Amino acid sequence: MAEPPFPDAHPDVRAARRSADEYARAFADAAPRLTRAQSVTEAERCLYCYDAPCARACPTGIDVPSFIRRIAEGNLRGAARVILEANPLGGTCARACPTEVLCEEVCVRNVGEGRPVAIGRLQRVATDAVMDRPVGALFNRAAPSGRRIAIVGAGPAGLACAFALARRGHGVVLHDARPAAGGLNEYGLASYKMAGGFARAEVDWLLGIGGVELKLGWKLENAAGLEALRREFDAVYLALGLGSTHRLGIPGEDLPGVRDAVDFIAELRRASNAAALAALETLAALAIGRRVVVIGGGMTAIDAAVQCRLLGAEDVHLVYRRGPQQMPATPAEREWAQKQGVTLHFGLAPQALVARNGHVAAVRFARSDGAGEHSFVADMVLKAIGQKLDSGWLEGSGLTLEGGRIVADDEGRTALPRLYAGGDCRRGGRDLTVEAVADGQRAAAAIDADLKH
Ligand SMILES: Cc1cc2nc3c(=O)[nH]c(=O)nc-3n(C[C@H](O)[C@H](O)[C@H](O)COP(=O)(O)OP(=O)(O)OC[C@H]3O[C@@H](n4cnc5c(N)ncnc54)[C@H](O)[C@@H]3O)c2cc1C
Ligand code: SF4
Repeated sequence: MAEPPFPDAHPDVRAARRSADEYARAFADAAPRLTRAQSVTEAERCLYCYDAPCARACPTGIDVPSFIRRIAEGNLRGAARVILEANPLGGTCARACPTEVLCEEVCVRNVGEGRPVAIGRLQRVATDAVMDRPVGALFNRAAPSGRRIAIVGAGPAGLACAFALARRGHGVVLHDARPAAGGLNEYGLASYKMAGGFARAEVDWLLGIGGVELKLGWKLENAAGLEALRREFDAVYLALGLGSTHRLGIPGEDLPGVRDAVDFIAELRRASNAAALAALETLAALAIGRRVVVIGGGMTAIDAAVQCRLLGAEDVHLVYRRGPQQMPATPAEREWAQKQGVTLHFGLAPQALVARNGHVAAVRFARSDGAGEHSFVADMVLKAIGQKLDSGWLEGSGLTLEGGRIVADDEGRTALPRLYAGGDCRRGGRDLTVEAVADGQRAAAAIDADLKH
């Protein structure tokens, strides 16, 4: 195989590729909140359909026409109540849900007017309007039940479960290995979707319900630790997410300059979550390659590629082994990436990462149609080929894994009494924030019902 041309002797990976102003613009909110007037105009496009398809398409069953009607009437607080009653993380979902393949895909306005009602953006207007008020202004907590539940994992599934249990009067201890709660809301979703520290503000708002103790920097390490939790608490809910990532299994994978996209995004989010000026400084301190290759075809690959561009990478190639039809990222996400200057390539399977002077310098791909090979020069390579459950510690716990995830029913019940699992770590988990929230809520209802027996 002919080696790709190496125009430079040294990899071009460096910090501060942009000016402070450019960072501020690049990492601003990608879809700023609609104004009051815009939201009323948009809400008035809704036909308030009977048996609304948009509500049926929402995994948390938000009564979409009902909240939109309230926005049209100028009742934002009432609209927020409808949303948050069904989905307490409705603020994050308004920002992160791929609405184009959920509620907005089935909106009847697509037929008559060629574009759906902007349900996600309307949801954001409503939820933002109440986030600076105490949760008690909308929801009450039932009298204490005397029951205590341990939740491991403070991502969307764990948070939704904790909130729903706390509302029912149960005491919850919410554990997480990370120094901040929020799971991928805090460490994974793209910074331009969660601008302004929204993930933390939402966690604070949720915890305002009372009855939830947050234990951060606490890791469940082994089956004995799980047993101890089961002895101490009336029930245990595992909402661990998928903490580890798949390997490419090709030569050169561990070369300097080759990174896991999820780790890269977590580092970026830690920087962009810092307060305004500090965030700009920490973003500027992140080293980024001039030419970046991202391997993968899902949301993580898209987010990593776009954020590389925002950090100042000049050439960003996103390379997927199959065709656009099989790509897990939606057409809207692909279009967004292209608008940000990412070049998409299909039908190329990675074969090897090529080194020069001990650092990655290129990636070699085989064409899926058998028509030879193609190489890209790269100063940095990001792997985004999917996450998996960090499951080594589960050995001896009595839990069953299938397809690398914990076997539990739709309500989260595992085969072991009073032990539940949900969100991405559960078999059947669908790797979307809104699905994790729905899982957490279903598990809370099951735990509550089981504790009453
Ligand atoms: C980069 C990226 C971008 C994404 N973008 C989107 C998007 O735009 N829209 C969308 O809908 N979905 C998106 N997703 C998917 C979405 O983030 C997940 O489906 C969702 O966060 C799953 O929620 P969860 O609560 O199951 O797990 P997580 O959010 O992963 O939370 C799990 C938590 O458990 C903790 N934990 C794990 N193991 C232990 C342990 N042993 N002890 C203690 N704590 C532990 C972790 O620290 C973590 O905080 C994205 C995913 C990634 C990776
Ligand atoms: S489908 Fe569209 S028009 Fe009908 S209720 Fe839902 S948002 Fe309104």
